[in-house]
Amino acid sequence: MFDLNTILRPHILTLTPYSSARDEYTGKEGIFLDANENAFGSTLDGSTLDGSTSEDHYNRYPDPHQLAIKARLAPIKGVRPTQIFIGNGSDEPIDLLVRATCTPGSDSILILPPTYGMYEVSAAVNDVLLIKIPLTPDFQVDVPAVLAAIQPRTKLLFVCSPNNPTGNLIDQNAIVTLLTSFSGLVVVDEAYIDFANTRSFTTFLDQYPNLVVLQTFSKAWGLAALRSGMCFASEALIEVLNKIKPPYNVSGPTQHLLLKALSQAPAKDAMVARILAQREELIANLLNLPLVRHVYPSDANFILVKFDDPKAVFDYLINQQIIVRDRHRVKLCEGCLRITVGTESENEQLLAMLNAYENRLTTTV
Ligand SMILES: *Cc1c(COP(=O)(O)O)cnc(C)c1O
Repeated sequence: MFDLNTILRPHILTLTPYSSARDEYTGKEGIFLDANENAFGSTLDGSTLDGSTSEDHYNRYPDPHQLAIKARLAPIKGVRPTQIFIGNGSDEPIDLLVRATCTPGSDSILILPPTYGMYEVSAAVNDVLLIKIPLTPDFQVDVPAVLAAIQPRTKLLFVCSPNNPTGNLIDQNAIVTLLTSFSGLVVVDEAYIDFANTRSFTTFLDQYPNLVVLQTFSKAWGLAALRSGMCFASEALIEVLNKIKPPYNVSGPTQHLLLKALSQAPAKDAMVARILAQREELIANLLNLPLVRHVYPSDANFILVKFDDPKAVFDYLINQQIIVRDRHRVKLCEGCLRITVGTESENEQLLAMLNAYENRLTTTV
């Protein structure tokens, strides 16, 4: 029942993409006089800019399709290189998916709040209608409500799992039901998948042609500054994203650093293990604080915590130069602050401050 050609905007099907110099000649050797680059070098040659190596040629345009990265990433993720799109952050594939499928003013996307804010922003920027079906009180998908809300012109459905800001995984069977019942694209945002004890939806890619999986280098890999996101989907959809992306959307230094990082996967795993240990310890300690009303279970690297007086706690922490995310005005997250798991010492300081806040209360009463 899924037909990509009916989901894409008609003009995207017939669009002629920009053909870059690096698309038209893909050889590595030769005298390159085709891209109007500076053949004499770059103003950064000889400098020791952070992250630069002798292999960096800042004067040359980078590989527009990041083939070296995809070749290394594919076996790590168990997908084919042609099922991978690398973007300037996950924000880029989110925006490209909206632009590829939704005609402004008439098509819609469906989201499940409380959730990541970029889906709504991307819809708004592109003048695309937004249908919101809230999660249930236990932060799961209300599948019948979602299926009832889908309209003929609904093109995309965003499911964030583990969800931000609630921290929980979305039930896998619910997502599979959406995949089989919805004739548009189901985008599963797995930004926090490395912190969850579950299989990735990338393992379902060959089964569901309408599945898109987003992951990122910004969280577990510790590379938020690079701005790099991964999008996994059918070869046909990846081809479309390649057609409409800016030609050199991932910079040369970013590509070099990603390649280096991908050879350090054990370092990522070691950091994830430390984060998970700290998450469990932080949860246990937060549960011991009388001012904490509830600690939600977390499959991510942050914890949603309900306080009796969230605004006062938030302001107090800011005064102590501890910055957490205030979510207490978000529907279904009333009273909650979202706390990222820090290092051992950062978490100790957070807990010390929350203890001091308690004592301040009891001594002033
Ligand atoms: C942090 C986060 C991302 C990552 O965005 P990048 O643009 O890749 O840094 C994506 N989705 C969710 C839900 C996030 O919380």
